[in-house]
Amino acid sequence: MRYVSTRGAAPTLGFEDVLLTGLARDGGLYVPETWPVFSVAEIRALAGLPYGEAAARVMEPFIGDALDEGTLLTLVRDAYAAFDHAAVAPLKQLDERTWLMELFHGPTLAFKDFALQVVGRLFDHVLTKRDRRVTIVGATSGDTGSAAIEACRGRERIDVFILHPHGRVSEVQRRQMTTVMDKNVHNIAIEGTFDDCQDMVKAMFNDTGFRDEMDLSAVNSINWARIMAQIAYYFVAAAALGAPDRRVAFAVPSGNFGNVFAGYGAAKMGLPLAKLIVGSNRNDILTRFFDTGVMSTAEVHPTYSPSMDIQVSSNFERLLFEIFDRDGTAVAEAMTAFRETGKLDPGAAPWRKARELFEAARLDDSQTLAEIARLYRETGELIDPHSAIGIAAARLRRDAGGLRDDAVPIVALATAHPAKFPDAVEKASGVRPSLPARLGDLFSREERVTVLPKDLAQVQDLVRRHVALDTPVTENA
Ligand SMILES: *Cc1c(COP(=O)(O)O)cnc(C)c1O
Repeated sequence: MRYVSTRGAAPTLGFEDVLLTGLARDGGLYVPETWPVFSVAEIRALAGLPYGEAAARVMEPFIGDALDEGTLLTLVRDAYAAFDHAAVAPLKQLDERTWLMELFHGPTLAFKDFALQVVGRLFDHVLTKRDRRVTIVGATSGDTGSAAIEACRGRERIDVFILHPHGRVSEVQRRQMTTVMDKNVHNIAIEGTFDDCQDMVKAMFNDTGFRDEMDLSAVNSINWARIMAQIAYYFVAAAALGAPDRRVAFAVPSGNFGNVFAGYGAAKMGLPLAKLIVGSNRNDILTRFFDTGVMSTAEVHPTYSPSMDIQVSSNFERLLFEIFDRDGTAVAEAMTAFRETGKLDPGAAPWRKARELFEAARLDDSQTLAEIARLYRETGELIDPHSAIGIAAARLRRDAGGLRDDAVPIVALATAHPAKFPDAVEKASGVRPSLPARLGDLFSREERVTVLPKDLAQVQDLVRRHVALDTPVTENA
């Protein structure tokens, strides 16, 4: 399998290089040169397989000969072996039509573990094979950071630097990052928003001198391997509910558009999806795009679903590439204009193409709390604010006349454990969710983090010093 950049001006690469590279040299994102397509028999055969086995089958065509089949299967099984639930991604029926797929049984209690537990192991494998080291830099609005840190901690060939917006992640999220004491793990709190953090990571990659000097690499959601690993649970859920002989819809709380783009990838690979429903919080750039056909940035507002407090959804570029019929030059022009003007208008025909599969709905904080309360009342399930947005978005779209086919089951992806956001959940339901045993002592663990202003030079300097010294960042919090 070869990979091309969404902006059409970077070299095509094989899987190993795409894994290690992250962002393409032309500023684009890597996507498969062609989508592999599964036959109906292959999709049917996924039903009932152990999760790791099904996931390895879905990933195999993307990896090609970078790993032999046996190595891949062992690696993927190992990635999911430490999950807290035997089913790895259990499906729970909420009502006649709606299922919840719980994607929060991994080490950091959010769906990002599904990709990152695999990606950390893939890095290890490829770096060892090539006798190389890398410096991973990433920005997090909360959950990516801890999942990346858990995936990389203690790995000898990796230094990991995670930028998070100071004071804008939940205490559980912060502690899951800052209490990891492995010497290859470095936490930086930036006095700014998630988008500021993300811009700084992008700027470090665009500084090719720095990028080469540090052997920069990324595991944030622009990394293709993460999308690849996430495609698997769409297949697993759909096959369990009768695909390919029955169409299935998914409702996905979205921020960077990585999770739901994996659903789009599954559809490209032959999974019969009726709809992908995008749920947004008050930061609703995606919903406004699907409603109006124009993407325009706005101020970022903090909400009860901080992992979606994003105004620039980096993975959206991958969809843009598809709805522009894979015209990289057109994507590059649109993205440059977007950067300059804050507006992206792909035109009516591409927008219609996007609307064939996607619908979207937005919930503000009070609607989010109301949904948590309703679900608790009606089903006894405690859910986190992100997951609540997905479930409610599905209902809003159904009420608005979408999803007319009553036979289509809707799978709402539960992206975080309720105990990651205990204040919001308690406020809504009156019940304070408790952390699973593995994180029981989180609040008594020591923390280590450096707070820096929104200043790229200071961040680069810190990375340089610590990669050179190979020592952890000094503590000041
Ligand atoms: C990251 C995250 C999201 C958003 O996922 P994207 O892939 O960025 O769209 C939603 N919910 C939770 C809990 C997350 O951690």
